[in-house]
Amino acid sequence: MIYADNAATTKMSPAAIRTMTAMMEEVWGNPSSLYGHGQKAKEALEEARETVAAVIGAQPQEIIFTSGGSEADNQAILSAAALGKKKGKMHIISTAFEHHAVLHTLEKLRKEGFDITLLDVHENGIVLPEEVAAAIREDTCLVTIMFANNEIGTIQPIREIGAVCREKKVLFHTDAVQAIGHLPVNVADDNIDMLSSSAHKFHGPKGVGFLYVRKGVPITNLIEGGAQERGKRAGTENVPGICAMATALKEISAKMEENTEYVTKLRNRLIDGLSEIPHSALNGDREKRLPGNVNFCFEGIEGESLLLLLDDKGIQASSGSACTSGSLDPSHVLLAIGRVHDVAHGSLRLSIMEENTEAEVDEIIRAVKDVVEYLRSFSPVWRDLMSGKAKFIL
Ligand SMILES: *Cc1c(COP(=O)(O)O)cnc(C)c1O
Repeated sequence: MIYADNAATTKMSPAAIRTMTAMMEEVWGNPSSLYGHGQKAKEALEEARETVAAVIGAQPQEIIFTSGGSEADNQAILSAAALGKKKGKMHIISTAFEHHAVLHTLEKLRKEGFDITLLDVHENGIVLPEEVAAAIREDTCLVTIMFANNEIGTIQPIREIGAVCREKKVLFHTDAVQAIGHLPVNVADDNIDMLSSSAHKFHGPKGVGFLYVRKGVPITNLIEGGAQERGKRAGTENVPGICAMATALKEISAKMEENTEYVTKLRNRLIDGLSEIPHSALNGDREKRLPGNVNFCFEGIEGESLLLLLDDKGIQASSGSACTSGSLDPSHVLLAIGRVHDVAHGSLRLSIMEENTEAEVDEIIRAVKDVVEYLRSFSPVWRDLMSGKAKFIL
């Protein structure tokens, strides 16, 4: 099996699994308990908090552990909105190609009377800081823009956007779920007020993540209850998951430079190989993208069939976001970069990591070429394109 869907989830690292089982077997106390066994869990929890904070250049008390990226996104956005509402500021700026954890939360706020501006991400999938600046109003309470897109991998000018927000005194949140562990991130240098992350995107376990909240930025609860996480996130902490996340993050961060160099080389090989397919196009900027992200559109085919046939050949990939698979709507990300419906339907996302090899990349290229040719051989859309009845777009 060739796994090329790391943007959906990654395999846990053996070290993270070891941490997790060791915690479950040996340090299973409740970190809020005052006796020794509980305090051991508390110590492990705080050590994990220090590890995570150090990786992103934060202070430990600025980290709130959550159940993952979606929860962190919800808490950051709803908290900023509640704060804004109190001050009569009900305008939020984001982009059209955010993850649904952000977009659906904003949709909910729109129904509650918030004014939401979704900025254009242009053909290359990159937001312009000057357009963020131009969109900020007197009543803007939040700018939320993802660090790197989960479908097309494009990296946003976060530091510049953060600087704009700082200057205009508007809170800035970034969904950095695809970035943490894969790109250098420093919350201070990058002018970030709030940041979401998720362990299962960097070889940690599912169901655990964190929200960074800069000291001095008020944050409200999403979940009410006990006083865990300094009263900002109730519920007994997932100590094994949190500690395993810290192990995974420390491990991947130590190898980031090496991984980036290797994975970028594989990615470029994959892009070059797939570019040989006629009437195809890479989605998103070629350079400013995650080291392991490749996303293509192939004209005249249907993405779902492509995926199923690749699966038959042992290749695990995706047509876009795992969260929208099963729905027949084309990806909102591809529509946001201006792909028309028909073209957006024929998309393929391959997200590779350091476990992948050059031989695997070559096998993927061969397989995709074969499957695209096969699907086109009986596609009525392709027939119309070839006969001139319909016009090629790519
Ligand atoms: C995966 C992902 C999420 C959701 O994270 P979960 O931990 O699965 O809730 C949010 N945003 C982006 C960009 C993602 O890739």
